[in-house]
Amino acid sequence: MKTIIKPVYYCDFCKKKYIHRGFAVKHEKACTNNPDRKCKICELIGNAQTDLKMLIEGYKEKYPTMKKELEKEFLNDLYEKTDGCPNCMLAIIKLLHYKIEIKEPDYNGTAITLYIFDWDYKKEYTEFWIEYNSEKNETYY
Ligand SMILES: [Zn+2]
Ligand SMILES: [Zn+2]
Repeated sequence: MKTIIKPVYYCDFCKKKYIHRGFAVKHEKACTNNPDRKCKICELIGNAQTDLKMLIEGYKEKYPTMKKELEKEFLNDLYEKTDGCPNCMLAIIKLLHYKIEIKEPDYNGTAITLYIFDWDYKKEYTEFWIEYNSEKNETYY
């Protein structure tokens, strides 16, 4: 039996792994866990690159702890500052490590903390591509 040992490349910021180094490098540069990421979506639509670190510092100061009642205000502001880029929004939400506490008794009757942001990344991401494609195919009669 022949065994081939191939290297596996792991992203430094998340759990993704790749067989091909090139893909790993490409991913790492844009990984939404990387505070120095370059956003490919922003590049695609000609947005200025979001300054993640600056925004994160600002939010930490403004909302040291995230609360359910502040969520809408925070998300609206975030949407505005990132021009609704789903990947920039996701990166900021992840890098802020906000946890919203919702007390719900678990099976032992003790309160557990559930993380909930009323924001659907998959939906935003899909909507982005729908708009992008329809814009790309737009004809100007
Ligand atoms: Zn990653
Ligand atoms: Zn972006």
